[in-house]
Amino acid sequence: MAGKDYYEVLGVSKDASQAEIKKAYRQLSKKYHPDINKAPGAEEKFKEITEAYEVLSDEQKRSNYDQYGSADGPQGFGGAGAGGAGGFGGFGDAGGFGGGGFEDIFNSFFGGGGRSRNPNAPQPGRDLQYEMTLTFEEAIFGKKTKIKYSRQAQCHTCHGSGAKPGTSPETCHNCGGSGYVTTETNTPLGRMRSQQVCPVCHGTGKEIKEKCPTCGGSGHEEERHEVEVNIPAGVDDGQQMRLQNQGEAGENGGPYGDLFILFNVKPSKVFKRDGSDIYLDKDISFTQAALGDEINVQTVHGNVKLKIPAGTQTGSVFRLKGKGAPRLRGNGNGDQRVTVNIVTPKNLNKGQKMALKAYAEASGEKVGNGKGHFFDKMKDAFDN
Ligand SMILES: [Zn+2]
Ligand SMILES: [Zn+2]
Repeated sequence: MAGKDYYEVLGVSKDASQAEIKKAYRQLSKKYHPDINKAPGAEEKFKEITEAYEVLSDEQKRSNYDQYGSADGPQGFGGAGAGGAGGFGGFGDAGGFGGGGFEDIFNSFFGGGGRSRNPNAPQPGRDLQYEMTLTFEEAIFGKKTKIKYSRQAQCHTCHGSGAKPGTSPETCHNCGGSGYVTTETNTPLGRMRSQQVCPVCHGTGKEIKEKCPTCGGSGHEEERHEVEVNIPAGVDDGQQMRLQNQGEAGENGGPYGDLFILFNVKPSKVFKRDGSDIYLDKDISFTQAALGDEINVQTVHGNVKLKIPAGTQTGSVFRLKGKGAPRLRGNGNGDQRVTVNIVTPKNLNKGQKMALKAYAEASGEKVGNGKGHFFDKMKDAFDN
């Protein structure tokens, strides 16, 4: 990986703390995780991020890298195969926000990364995050929707230059366009020269004499931005989806940042979900269990018939193939698993009691200690 700057890959400074490195890694790995980000190059980027993290998170490897440009030390240059991702766990655990609609909490993250050495180089805009609450069914079937949010867009008057239309930025009078000024100071050791970023142009070498009246020279203006979102079927709570170029405007002609939609999926009153599998509890009577039956079972795809074989025990699990949620990767659906609970009847009427007594006799069972007593006791027990 010669030539790849691990600090640049993670967007952290050379003296970043371990906490900063870890944070940058978690954020970037969420962004480029191949499960969610299908953009070309995302997987490659994810590998790069992981490799950079493996080196910078290990003090020994980091020190080698800082000194020799390789995690392996002086001999290992050019072969720093840092291996696969270890201990990656930052994905899908972003739960725990309050509910709400699409206009929910909207915030920005990533901070746009560090400034590059050349302040005139194109810089991509900041990424934004949008939290979206979905019902259980919406997450399973996907939906098309429109969202609206505020973002910093390129100024429509000056198209990002910051200069009044008809004028253009001029060479900075203070630094002559270099972006740096040299200062000399007298010290006990002699005259010291130091270079500093020009305070007038902030290193750009350009000065805007007549600022754009719309943006005041920033090149950006706030806009309410609307975008159509096509949520794929099968998304899950805590997952993110990336919409390219729907973030904030870049600098110096750089591209817009991206928008990350973070899904917050509401639980269902009926079903439970684990990945693409759906779980349902279903009560049946003990006669259904003993004699067998065909019952109607709710699924997210509509009701289906389920055959209960004679002699089914409580807690038995039946699988309804393909009645789960769609798999995000690959094809087809998961399954629905139905756990049957056999319900013991309460408040038996006379006919039921007689039938059960006959059943007990037919089974050679001695139930209770006398006529009627057992059922009265049973009733007591259930009334408690
Ligand atoms: Zn403007
Ligand atoms: Zn200047």
